Amino acid sequence: MTDARDSNTARTIDHPLGPTPHVAGSLPGPNAAAMIERDERRSSPSNTRDFPLVAARGLGSVIEDVDGNRFLDFAAGIAVCSTGHCHPRVVEAIEKQARSLIHLCGSDFFYPPMVELIEKLASIVPGSQPQRVLLTNSGTEAVEAAFKLSRHHSKRKWVIAFYGAFHGRTMGSLGLTCSKYKQRAHFGPVVPMTAHVAYGDAAAIENTLFRYKMAPDEVAAIFVEALQGEGGYVVPDPKFLHDLRAICDKHGILLVCDEIQSGAGRTGKWFAFEHAGIQPDIVLMAKGIASGMPIGAVIAREDVMDWPPGAQGSTFGGNPVACAAAVATLDLIEKEYLANARDLGAVLQDRLKSLAAKHKVLAKPRGLGLMCGIDVVNPSTGADDPAMRDRILQRVFADGVIMLPCGETAVRFCPPLCMTRDEFDLGLDIFDHAVAQSS
Ligand code: PLP
Repeated sequence: MTDARDSNTARTIDHPLGPTPHVAGSLPGPNAAAMIERDERRSSPSNTRDFPLVAARGLGSVIEDVDGNRFLDFAAGIAVCSTGHCHPRVVEAIEKQARSLIHLCGSDFFYPPMVELIEKLASIVPGSQPQRVLLTNSGTEAVEAAFKLSRHHSKRKWVIAFYGAFHGRTMGSLGLTCSKYKQRAHFGPVVPMTAHVAYGDAAAIENTLFRYKMAPDEVAAIFVEALQGEGGYVVPDPKFLHDLRAICDKHGILLVCDEIQSGAGRTGKWFAFEHAGIQPDIVLMAKGIASGMPIGAVIAREDVMDWPPGAQGSTFGGNPVACAAAVATLDLIEKEYLANARDLGAVLQDRLKSLAAKHKVLAKPRGLGLMCGIDVVNPSTGADDPAMRDRILQRVFADGVIMLPCGETAVRFCPPLCMTRDEFDLGLDIFDHAVAQSS
Protein backbone atom coordinates (compact mmCIF):
# COMPACT_ATOMS: atom_id res chain seq x y z
CA MET A 1 0.00 0.00 0.00
CA THR A 2 1.20 3.53 -0.60
CA ASP A 3 2.00 5.92 2.19
CA ALA A 4 -0.99 8.10 3.05
CA ARG A 5 1.08 10.91 4.50
CA ASP A 6 1.25 14.38 3.07
CA SER A 7 4.02 14.61 0.47
CA ASN A 8 5.63 17.38 2.55
CA THR A 9 6.37 14.93 5.32
CA ALA A 10 6.66 11.67 3.40
CA ARG A 11 10.41 11.45 4.15
CA THR A 12 11.33 8.27 6.00
CA ILE A 13 14.26 6.89 7.93
CA ASP A 14 15.56 3.38 7.40
CA HIS A 15 14.80 1.22 10.39
CA PRO A 16 15.17 -2.53 10.97
CA LEU A 17 11.35 -2.78 11.20
CA GLY A 18 11.03 -0.99 7.84
CA PRO A 19 10.94 2.58 6.52
CA THR A 20 9.48 4.86 9.23
CA PRO A 21 7.08 6.61 9.52
CA HIS A 22 4.78 4.57 7.36
CA VAL A 23 1.02 5.14 7.44
CA ALA A 24 -1.02 3.26 4.86
CA GLY A 25 -4.45 4.84 4.65
CA SER A 26 -6.45 6.39 7.43
CA LEU A 27 -6.05 5.35 11.05
CA PRO A 28 -7.04 3.07 12.60
CA GLY A 29 -6.40 0.42 9.94
CA PRO A 30 -8.77 -2.58 9.72
CA ASN A 31 -6.97 -4.83 12.22
CA ALA A 32 -6.59 -1.99 14.71
CA ALA A 33 -10.25 -0.99 14.33
CA ALA A 34 -11.39 -4.55 15.07
CA MET A 35 -9.14 -4.78 18.13
CA ILE A 36 -10.28 -1.40 19.47
CA GLU A 37 -13.90 -2.44 19.07
CA ARG A 38 -13.26 -5.61 21.15
CA ASP A 39 -11.24 -3.71 23.75
CA GLU A 40 -13.79 -0.97 24.21
CA ARG A 41 -16.58 -3.47 24.82
CA ARG A 42 -14.78 -4.90 27.86
CA SER A 43 -12.23 -2.38 29.15
CA SER A 44 -12.71 0.14 31.91
CA PRO A 45 -14.08 3.39 30.52
CA SER A 46 -11.58 5.24 32.72
CA ASN A 47 -8.81 4.73 30.12
CA THR A 48 -7.88 7.83 28.14
CA ARG A 49 -7.10 6.54 24.67
CA ASP A 50 -6.77 9.64 22.52
CA PHE A 51 -5.06 7.84 19.61
CA PRO A 52 -6.21 4.62 17.88
CA LEU A 53 -2.80 2.95 18.15
CA VAL A 54 -2.86 -0.84 18.53
CA ALA A 55 0.79 -1.79 18.88
CA ALA A 56 2.11 -5.10 17.60
CA ARG A 57 5.83 -4.61 18.23
CA GLY A 58 8.44 -2.01 18.97
CA LEU A 59 12.16 -1.62 18.47
CA GLY A 60 14.25 1.37 19.50
CA SER A 61 12.21 4.50 18.79
CA VAL A 62 9.76 2.82 16.43
CA ILE A 63 6.37 1.21 17.08
CA GLU A 64 4.63 -0.92 14.47
CA ASP A 65 0.88 -1.38 14.72
CA VAL A 66 -1.22 -4.45 13.87
CA ASP A 67 -1.75 -3.16 10.33
CA GLY A 68 1.97 -2.67 9.65
CA ASN A 69 1.93 1.12 10.15
CA ARG A 70 5.13 2.41 11.72
CA PHE A 71 5.39 5.37 14.06
CA LEU A 72 8.26 7.35 15.51
CA ASP A 73 7.74 7.32 19.24
CA PHE A 74 8.25 10.63 21.06
CA ALA A 75 6.41 9.45 24.18
CA ALA A 76 8.26 6.23 25.15
CA GLY A 77 5.22 4.82 26.95
CA ILE A 78 5.12 8.02 29.05
CA ALA A 79 8.87 8.28 29.69
CA VAL A 80 9.21 4.58 30.47
CA CYS A 81 11.02 2.98 27.52
CA SER A 82 14.24 4.80 28.31
CA THR A 83 16.44 2.40 26.32
CA GLY A 84 13.86 2.28 23.55
CA HIS A 85 11.51 -0.56 22.81
CA CYS A 86 12.84 -4.07 23.31
CA HIS A 87 16.51 -3.18 23.59
CA PRO A 88 18.33 -6.47 22.84
CA ARG A 89 20.36 -6.27 26.08
CA VAL A 90 17.25 -5.69 28.18
CA VAL A 91 15.41 -8.50 26.38
CA GLU A 92 18.39 -10.81 26.94
CA ALA A 93 18.48 -9.94 30.67
CA ILE A 94 14.73 -10.62 30.98
CA GLU A 95 14.96 -13.93 29.10
CA LYS A 96 17.97 -15.11 31.10
CA GLN A 97 16.35 -14.24 34.43
CA ALA A 98 12.98 -15.75 33.45
CA ARG A 99 14.74 -19.04 32.73
CA SER A 100 16.36 -19.11 36.21
CA LEU A 101 13.92 -17.53 38.67
CA ILE A 102 10.72 -15.56 38.10
CA HIS A 103 9.50 -15.02 41.64
CA LEU A 104 10.41 -15.60 45.26
CA CYS A 105 9.25 -12.50 47.23
CA GLY A 106 12.03 -10.08 47.98
CA SER A 107 10.42 -9.06 51.29
CA ASP A 108 11.13 -12.58 52.60
CA PHE A 109 14.18 -13.87 50.71
CA PHE A 110 17.24 -12.75 48.76
CA TYR A 111 18.24 -13.07 45.09
CA PRO A 112 21.19 -11.63 43.15
CA PRO A 113 19.40 -9.25 40.74
CA MET A 114 17.72 -7.48 43.67
CA VAL A 115 21.05 -7.05 45.44
CA GLU A 116 22.68 -5.75 42.25
CA LEU A 117 19.84 -3.32 41.66
CA ILE A 118 19.65 -1.84 45.15
CA GLU A 119 23.44 -1.40 45.19
CA LYS A 120 23.26 0.42 41.86
CA LEU A 121 20.33 2.64 42.89
CA ALA A 122 21.99 3.50 46.19
CA SER A 123 25.17 4.46 44.33
CA ILE A 124 23.60 6.86 41.80
CA VAL A 125 22.06 9.17 44.41
CA PRO A 126 24.64 11.94 44.80
CA GLY A 127 26.27 12.72 48.13
CA SER A 128 28.34 10.82 50.64
CA GLN A 129 25.52 9.64 52.92
CA PRO A 130 24.80 5.91 52.68
CA GLN A 131 21.41 5.09 51.14
CA ARG A 132 18.93 2.24 51.55
CA VAL A 133 16.45 1.08 48.92
CA LEU A 134 12.94 -0.36 49.00
CA LEU A 135 11.58 -1.79 45.73
CA THR A 136 7.94 -1.54 44.65
CA ASN A 137 5.90 -2.45 41.55
CA SER A 138 5.01 1.02 40.36
CA GLY A 139 5.42 4.73 40.87
CA THR A 140 2.33 5.17 43.00
CA GLU A 141 3.48 2.40 45.34
CA ALA A 142 6.84 4.13 45.73
CA VAL A 143 4.98 7.32 46.65
CA GLU A 144 2.76 5.43 49.12
CA ALA A 145 5.81 3.83 50.72
CA ALA A 146 7.62 7.17 51.00
CA PHE A 147 4.49 8.74 52.49
CA LYS A 148 4.41 5.99 55.13
CA LEU A 149 8.16 6.12 55.71
CA SER A 150 8.15 9.88 56.24
CA ARG A 151 5.31 9.64 58.78
CA HIS A 152 6.92 6.64 60.48
CA HIS A 153 10.35 8.21 60.70
CA SER A 154 9.25 11.67 61.82
CA LYS A 155 6.21 10.67 63.91
CA ARG A 156 4.53 13.68 62.25
CA LYS A 157 1.37 13.62 60.13
CA TRP A 158 1.15 16.49 57.63
CA VAL A 159 2.53 16.13 54.11
CA ILE A 160 2.84 19.06 51.72
CA ALA A 161 2.74 18.89 47.91
CA PHE A 162 2.04 21.30 45.04
CA TYR A 163 -0.73 22.31 42.67
CA GLY A 164 -0.13 20.66 39.32
CA ALA A 165 1.61 17.71 40.98
CA PHE A 166 1.06 14.17 39.85
CA HIS A 167 2.22 11.49 42.29
CA GLY A 168 -0.12 8.61 41.43
CA ARG A 169 -3.67 7.43 41.89
CA THR A 170 -3.83 5.28 45.02
CA MET A 171 -5.40 6.88 48.07
CA GLY A 172 -2.20 8.20 49.67
CA SER A 173 -0.55 9.39 46.48
CA LEU A 174 -3.90 10.74 45.26
CA GLY A 175 -3.93 12.97 48.33
CA LEU A 176 -0.72 14.51 46.96
CA THR A 177 -1.75 14.53 43.30
CA CYS A 178 -3.35 17.84 42.37
CA SER A 179 -2.98 17.94 38.63
CA LYS A 180 -6.54 17.61 37.26
CA TYR A 181 -9.71 17.67 39.34
CA LYS A 182 -11.00 14.67 37.35
CA GLN A 183 -8.30 12.49 38.89
CA ARG A 184 -9.69 13.23 42.37
CA ALA A 185 -13.41 13.76 41.77
CA HIS A 186 -15.66 11.49 43.86
CA PHE A 187 -12.74 9.52 45.31
CA GLY A 188 -12.39 11.36 48.59
CA PRO A 189 -11.75 11.34 51.36
CA VAL A 190 -8.19 10.61 50.38
CA VAL A 191 -5.53 10.18 53.07
CA PRO A 192 -6.03 13.20 55.35
CA MET A 193 -3.54 15.85 56.45
CA THR A 194 -2.16 16.75 53.05
CA ALA A 195 -1.91 20.35 51.86
CA HIS A 196 -0.88 22.09 48.66
CA VAL A 197 0.61 25.39 47.55
CA ALA A 198 1.46 26.70 44.06
CA TYR A 199 4.38 24.96 42.36
CA GLY A 200 7.33 27.35 42.47
CA ASP A 201 6.05 29.28 45.50
CA ALA A 202 8.10 28.03 48.45
CA ALA A 203 7.30 31.17 50.44
CA ALA A 204 3.61 30.18 50.51
CA ILE A 205 4.52 27.26 52.75
CA GLU A 206 5.73 29.58 55.48
CA ASN A 207 3.37 32.48 54.76
CA THR A 208 0.13 30.57 54.43
CA LEU A 209 0.35 26.91 55.50
CA PHE A 210 2.52 27.47 58.58
CA ARG A 211 0.48 30.55 59.44
CA TYR A 212 -3.04 29.23 59.02
CA LYS A 213 -3.05 25.47 58.75
CA MET A 214 -0.38 23.54 60.63
CA ALA A 215 2.69 24.04 62.76
CA PRO A 216 5.94 23.24 60.95
CA ASP A 217 6.83 20.64 63.58
CA GLU A 218 3.70 18.68 62.56
CA VAL A 219 4.96 18.31 58.97
CA ALA A 220 6.55 15.00 58.01
CA ALA A 221 7.55 15.73 54.43
CA ILE A 222 7.36 17.92 51.37
CA PHE A 223 6.89 15.93 48.15
CA VAL A 224 8.07 17.70 45.02
CA GLU A 225 8.75 16.91 41.38
CA ALA A 226 12.03 18.64 40.51
CA LEU A 227 10.56 19.06 37.02
CA GLN A 228 6.79 18.89 37.17
CA GLY A 229 5.59 16.23 34.71
CA GLU A 230 1.88 15.66 34.19
CA GLY A 231 1.25 19.23 35.36
CA GLY A 232 2.80 20.51 32.14
CA TYR A 233 6.55 19.80 32.04
CA VAL A 234 7.23 22.85 34.22
CA VAL A 235 10.89 23.58 34.99
CA PRO A 236 11.08 25.49 38.27
CA ASP A 237 13.58 28.16 39.14
CA PRO A 238 16.43 26.29 40.92
CA LYS A 239 15.89 28.73 43.81
CA PHE A 240 12.51 27.08 44.47
CA LEU A 241 14.19 23.75 45.23
CA HIS A 242 16.87 25.47 47.33
CA ASP A 243 14.17 27.29 49.29
CA LEU A 244 12.34 24.00 49.90
CA ARG A 245 15.59 22.46 51.12
CA ALA A 246 16.09 25.41 53.49
CA ILE A 247 12.51 25.13 54.87
CA CYS A 248 13.00 21.40 55.43
CA ASP A 249 16.35 21.94 57.17
CA LYS A 250 14.92 24.68 59.37
CA HIS A 251 11.97 22.61 60.57
CA GLY A 252 13.26 19.03 60.44
CA ILE A 253 10.99 18.15 57.51
CA LEU A 254 11.94 15.46 54.97
CA LEU A 255 12.36 16.58 51.37
CA VAL A 256 11.07 13.89 49.00
CA CYS A 257 11.92 14.28 45.31
CA ASP A 258 9.54 12.36 43.09
CA GLU A 259 11.82 11.50 40.16
CA ILE A 260 9.43 8.89 38.80
CA GLN A 261 9.11 10.68 35.46
CA SER A 262 12.19 12.92 35.48
CA GLY A 263 14.74 10.42 36.83
CA ALA A 264 16.69 7.57 35.22
CA GLY A 265 18.73 9.93 33.06
CA ARG A 266 15.81 11.57 31.26
CA THR A 267 17.09 15.11 31.88
CA GLY A 268 20.69 14.28 31.00
CA LYS A 269 21.57 13.65 34.65
CA TRP A 270 20.39 10.72 36.73
CA PHE A 271 17.96 13.03 38.54
CA ALA A 272 16.33 16.36 37.71
CA PHE A 273 17.13 17.71 41.19
CA GLU A 274 20.83 17.52 40.31
CA HIS A 275 20.36 20.44 37.89
CA ALA A 276 19.53 22.60 40.93
CA GLY A 277 22.32 21.10 43.02
CA ILE A 278 20.12 20.14 45.97
CA GLN A 279 20.13 16.94 48.02
CA PRO A 280 16.76 15.38 48.94
CA ASP A 281 16.26 13.04 51.89
CA ILE A 282 14.21 10.54 49.89
CA VAL A 283 14.25 9.93 46.13
CA LEU A 284 11.49 8.08 44.25
CA MET A 285 11.99 6.27 40.96
CA ALA A 286 9.91 4.08 38.64
CA LYS A 287 8.97 4.44 34.95
CA GLY A 288 12.32 4.59 33.09
CA ILE A 289 14.42 2.39 35.38
CA ALA A 290 13.52 -0.95 33.80
CA SER A 291 12.61 -0.07 30.18
CA GLY A 292 8.97 -1.11 30.69
CA MET A 293 9.09 -3.84 33.33
CA PRO A 294 7.01 -2.77 36.35
CA ILE A 295 9.22 -1.64 39.20
CA GLY A 296 9.62 1.38 41.46
CA ALA A 297 12.08 2.39 44.15
CA VAL A 298 12.27 4.43 47.34
CA ILE A 299 15.86 5.48 47.98
CA ALA A 300 16.39 7.11 51.35
CA ARG A 301 19.26 8.09 53.59
CA GLU A 302 20.16 5.24 55.93
CA ASP A 303 19.17 7.23 59.01
CA VAL A 304 15.77 8.01 57.44
CA MET A 305 14.91 4.47 56.31
CA ASP A 306 14.83 3.27 59.88
CA TRP A 307 11.56 1.31 60.03
CA PRO A 308 11.61 -2.14 61.62
CA PRO A 309 11.04 -5.54 59.95
CA GLY A 310 7.39 -5.94 58.96
CA ALA A 311 6.62 -2.23 58.74
CA GLN A 312 6.54 -2.39 54.94
CA GLY A 313 6.56 -5.19 52.37
CA SER A 314 5.24 -6.40 49.02
CA THR A 315 4.68 -9.77 47.37
CA PHE A 316 5.84 -8.73 43.93
CA GLY A 317 7.87 -5.55 44.63
CA GLY A 318 11.29 -5.87 43.00
CA ASN A 319 10.61 -9.25 41.41
CA PRO A 320 13.71 -10.88 39.89
CA VAL A 321 12.78 -10.34 36.23
CA ALA A 322 12.03 -6.64 36.73
CA CYS A 323 15.26 -6.26 38.73
CA ALA A 324 17.30 -7.89 35.94
CA ALA A 325 15.70 -5.57 33.37
CA ALA A 326 16.49 -2.59 35.61
CA VAL A 327 20.14 -3.57 36.08
CA ALA A 328 20.57 -3.86 32.28
CA THR A 329 18.66 -0.59 31.73
CA LEU A 330 20.70 1.42 34.22
CA ASP A 331 23.93 0.09 32.73
CA LEU A 332 22.86 1.17 29.22
CA ILE A 333 21.75 4.57 30.47
CA GLU A 334 25.03 5.12 32.29
CA LYS A 335 27.26 3.99 29.44
CA GLU A 336 25.38 5.44 26.45
CA TYR A 337 22.11 7.23 26.97
CA LEU A 338 22.84 9.81 29.67
CA ALA A 339 25.14 11.48 27.15
CA ASN A 340 22.55 11.17 24.37
CA ALA A 341 19.83 12.66 26.61
CA ARG A 342 22.13 15.58 27.32
CA ASP A 343 23.25 16.14 23.71
CA LEU A 344 19.95 15.48 21.95
CA GLY A 345 18.19 17.37 24.75
CA ALA A 346 20.24 20.50 23.94
CA VAL A 347 19.22 20.15 20.29
CA LEU A 348 15.57 19.67 21.31
CA GLN A 349 15.56 22.81 23.42
CA ASP A 350 17.06 24.86 20.54
CA ARG A 351 14.60 23.37 18.09
CA LEU A 352 11.62 24.17 20.34
CA LYS A 353 12.84 27.75 20.71
CA SER A 354 13.00 28.17 16.93
CA LEU A 355 9.58 26.54 16.50
CA ALA A 356 8.12 28.99 19.04
CA ALA A 357 9.70 31.85 17.10
CA LYS A 358 8.27 30.52 13.84
CA HIS A 359 4.71 29.60 14.92
CA LYS A 360 2.62 32.10 16.88
CA VAL A 361 0.54 29.26 18.34
CA LEU A 362 3.59 27.85 20.16
CA ALA A 363 4.82 29.42 23.38
CA LYS A 364 7.05 28.83 26.36
CA PRO A 365 9.50 26.21 25.08
CA ARG A 366 11.11 24.60 28.11
CA GLY A 367 12.69 21.51 29.50
CA LEU A 368 15.80 19.70 30.62
CA GLY A 369 17.46 16.98 28.54
CA LEU A 370 14.84 14.87 26.80
CA MET A 371 11.99 16.07 29.02
CA CYS A 372 10.69 19.14 27.22
CA GLY A 373 7.37 20.81 26.64
CA ILE A 374 5.84 23.65 24.64
CA ASP A 375 2.44 25.32 25.05
CA VAL A 376 -0.17 25.73 22.33
CA VAL A 377 -1.89 29.10 22.61
CA ASN A 378 -4.36 31.27 20.76
CA PRO A 379 -2.13 33.52 18.62
CA SER A 380 -4.30 36.62 19.14
CA THR A 381 -4.96 36.41 22.87
CA GLY A 382 -2.11 34.19 24.09
CA ALA A 383 -4.70 32.12 26.00
CA ASP A 384 -4.30 28.37 26.34
CA ASP A 385 -5.71 26.51 23.35
CA PRO A 386 -6.03 22.84 24.30
CA ALA A 387 -8.38 22.16 21.35
CA MET A 388 -5.71 23.34 18.93
CA ARG A 389 -3.09 21.33 20.83
CA ASP A 390 -5.21 18.22 20.40
CA ARG A 391 -5.71 18.91 16.69
CA ILE A 392 -1.95 19.24 16.22
CA LEU A 393 -1.31 15.96 18.04
CA GLN A 394 -3.93 14.14 15.96
CA ARG A 395 -2.32 15.49 12.82
CA VAL A 396 1.14 14.42 14.04
CA PHE A 397 -0.24 10.95 14.73
CA ALA A 398 -1.82 10.70 11.27
CA ASP A 399 1.63 11.52 9.91
CA GLY A 400 3.21 8.68 11.87
CA VAL A 401 4.59 10.28 15.04
CA ILE A 402 3.44 9.58 18.60
CA MET A 403 3.43 12.63 20.86
CA LEU A 404 1.40 13.12 24.02
CA PRO A 405 -0.17 16.11 25.71
CA CYS A 406 0.45 17.20 29.30
CA GLY A 407 -0.81 19.97 31.56
CA GLU A 408 -3.55 22.30 30.31
CA THR A 409 -2.21 23.00 26.87
CA ALA A 410 1.28 21.56 26.45
CA VAL A 411 2.81 19.07 24.07
CA ARG A 412 5.38 16.91 25.82
CA PHE A 413 8.53 15.55 24.25
CA CYS A 414 9.91 12.54 26.09
CA PRO A 415 11.35 10.21 23.45
CA PRO A 416 13.41 7.13 24.26
CA LEU A 417 16.86 8.20 25.45
CA CYS A 418 18.35 6.14 22.60
CA MET A 419 16.66 8.15 19.82
CA THR A 420 18.97 8.87 16.88
CA ARG A 421 19.50 12.34 15.45
CA ASP A 422 17.81 11.35 12.17
CA GLU A 423 14.73 10.01 13.95
CA PHE A 424 14.63 13.11 16.10
CA ASP A 425 14.97 15.57 13.19
CA LEU A 426 12.28 13.84 11.18
CA GLY A 427 9.85 13.70 14.13
CA LEU A 428 10.34 17.40 14.81
CA ASP A 429 9.92 18.26 11.10
CA ILE A 430 6.62 16.40 11.13
CA PHE A 431 5.55 18.29 14.25
CA ASP A 432 6.56 21.59 12.61
CA HIS A 433 4.48 20.72 9.53
CA ALA A 434 1.50 19.62 11.64
CA VAL A 435 1.54 22.92 13.53
CA ALA A 436 1.56 24.83 10.23
CA GLN A 437 -1.31 22.72 8.86
CA SER A 438 -3.47 22.81 11.99
CA SER A 439 -3.16 26.43 13.07
N1 PLP B 1 4.94 10.32 40.11
C1 PLP B 1 5.13 10.93 38.93
C2 PLP B 1 5.99 12.16 38.87
C3 PLP B 1 4.54 10.43 37.76
O1 PLP B 1 4.72 11.06 36.60
C4 PLP B 1 3.74 9.26 37.87
C5 PLP B 1 3.08 8.73 36.67
O2 PLP B 1 2.89 9.38 35.69
C6 PLP B 1 3.58 8.65 39.13
C7 PLP B 1 4.19 9.21 40.22
C8 PLP B 1 2.75 7.41 39.27
O3 PLP B 1 3.42 6.34 38.70
P1 PLP B 1 2.62 5.01 38.30
O4 PLP B 1 1.76 5.35 37.14
O5 PLP B 1 3.71 4.02 37.96
O6 PLP B 1 1.84 4.59 39.49
